[in-house]
Formats: sequence, structure tokens, C-alpha cells
Amino acid sequence: MGKIIDGKAISNALQERLKEQVAYFSMTVGRKPKLAVIMVGDDPASQVYVRNKIRACETVGITSEAYKLAESTESSYLETLIAKLNEDRDTDGILVQLPLPAHLNAKKIIPLIDPKKDVDGFSAANIGALLLDDKSGLYSCTPLGIMQLILSTGINLTGKHAVVVGRSNEVGKPIALMLLQHNATVTICHSKTEDLAAVTRTADVLVVAVGKKHLITADMVKEGAVVIDVGINRDDEGKLCGDVDFAGVEPKASYITPVPGGVGPMTIAMLMTNTLKAAKRNVQ
Ligand code: NAD
Repeated sequence: MGKIIDGKAISNALQERLKEQVAYFSMTVGRKPKLAVIMVGDDPASQVYVRNKIRACETVGITSEAYKLAESTESSYLETLIAKLNEDRDTDGILVQLPLPAHLNAKKIIPLIDPKKDVDGFSAANIGALLLDDKSGLYSCTPLGIMQLILSTGINLTGKHAVVVGRSNEVGKPIALMLLQHNATVTICHSKTEDLAAVTRTADVLVVAVGKKHLITADMVKEGAVVIDVGINRDDEGKLCGDVDFAGVEPKASYITPVPGGVGPMTIAMLMTNTLKAAKRNVQ
């Protein structure tokens, strides 16, 4: 019987600890850490994400400043706002909620955020810091959360085979680098991988970040593997589900994350962690 990793409980415990650390920061510095959240347009999923991020800020004691901009916002306006927030000494973190409307180019906008305030960890400087094992960098939140979930199982990753399915800049690539930092032997699979099942069957740790319902079935998983499901999909009844066939895989896994309630809650906790880290560096 597999053990279910309770991402919500781990995230809540992390936020409780953060609350104390944020309170200590606020007492010693004389102000709370501050996160600016910029959202352009009214994409319903983004609205939910932004609301949850602002709520998490309230929970841990971080000041949030939300900029909800009209869908028609011009690039130059956004660029000026980011420049202003980069300069503002009391703003510690800046986050631009993605996706942006089609007329705005995230590849042009994200690099404008000062890497020291890039709490999403999406800038080239921060991805480079991860690649170079520079711990002062701000690493991407979802992979940071995934690592916490993997480590919560007590597994020693040294020499273990970790297989990552998906090679996105936000999840697949950074989680592969983090697993490498922990001395795992890492394989990255993607849409062009031949015989995916043959690779995933050799995984001691399997991280799946694709966005395809039930891509990973029981026959693709090794007995006793740790399985982390990053995917967010809807099943035929419209309910949230991951990339892993949970019912089939759970009995084989030693540990497995559910969807919802696995990776999702961790991402926000790591965003709060990154904001505090950025704030501490900002006041040094
Ligand atoms: P993406 O679309 O950028 O990347 C998907 C990756 O999957 C690509 O690298 C592609 O090569 C690979 N892929 C596609 N089909 C495949 C196949 N048949 N076999 C193997 N690999 C295949 O997606 P992303 O941004 O990395 O997100 C992946 C999933 O994780 C999505 O469902 C997304 O919603 C979810 N997600 C969840 C969180 C969270 O906090 N829980 C955060 C980010 C992303």
C-alpha cells in the first residue's frame, strides 16, 4: 500500500514556521516583507492563483501589493511599472502572473524583473544560479516544493535513479537540476522520448510534469518508487486530476502525491519562502 504525501499538511507546517521567521524579520527590520503581484487581464485560473498567493501572504505576515491591470495594458506601461518596483526599496519580491495576454511577450517582460526580486525564479540569472549550485539565487517555486515533498519521505537520493517526465523551464529542467544537486542519477524524458515506459520503470523517484491525464499507468512504475505528480488536468467529470493514474499506481508506490493536495499547495509555500529570502537580502 503506498503512502500518500500530504502536500497540504507539509505546506501548512512550512507556513507556520515561516510566520515566525517573517515576524522576526518585521520586528528587527521595522517593516514586513513586501511582494508585488502583477496580473494583466482577467484569466479565471490566474485570478484564483493570484487570490491564493495574496491569501498566503496574509497568513504568513507578508505585505502584498496587487496590480490588477486591464487586458489592454500596453507593454510600455508594464515595463515602467516593473522598473518602478525594481527601484522601490521596500518592495522585496515582484511576480508577474503568467500567462500574459497574447500582445505581451513574457520572454521580454520577465527578464526586466531585478533577479534579486524575481521570487518566481524564472530569470536567466536565477536559473543560472541553480545550474551553478549558487544557493544565493531564487529558485523556481514548484520544483523547490517538489524537493521538499521528496525529502519529506526520508529517501536518500544519492545514487538513486530519478526520472523527470517533462522538460519545461518552469518545472522539468529545474527539478532535474535540484535532483542532481542531491546526487541522484537523473534522466529527463519528454514528448520525443522513445519508449517512455521503459525509462520510467527504472525510476526510484518519478516526477511527472506534463499535463496529460493518466499518462503514467501502473505498468510504467517500479515497485516501491516515490511518485510525484505535478500535472493539473480535468477528468471526464470535470474534477482535478494529475498525470498519474493514481488508483492504479498508488498500491505500487512507496510514496505518492495526490492531485489536488500534493505539489500545488507547496508552490505557494515556496513563493512565501522566496519572498522572505529576497527580503532578507534586500535589507542586508
Ligand atoms: P509544459 O507544457 O511547459 O511542458 C510539458 C512537458 O511535457 C514538455 O516538456 C513536453 O516535452 C512533455 N511532454 C508532452 N507530452 C509528453 C509525452 N507524451 N510523454 C512525455 N513527455 C511529454 O508544462 P509545465 O509548465 O511543465 O507543466 C506541466 C504540468 O504541471 C501541467 O499540467 C501544469 O498545469 C502543471 N503544473 C503544476 C504546478 C503546480 O503548482 N502544481 C506548477 C506548474 C505546472
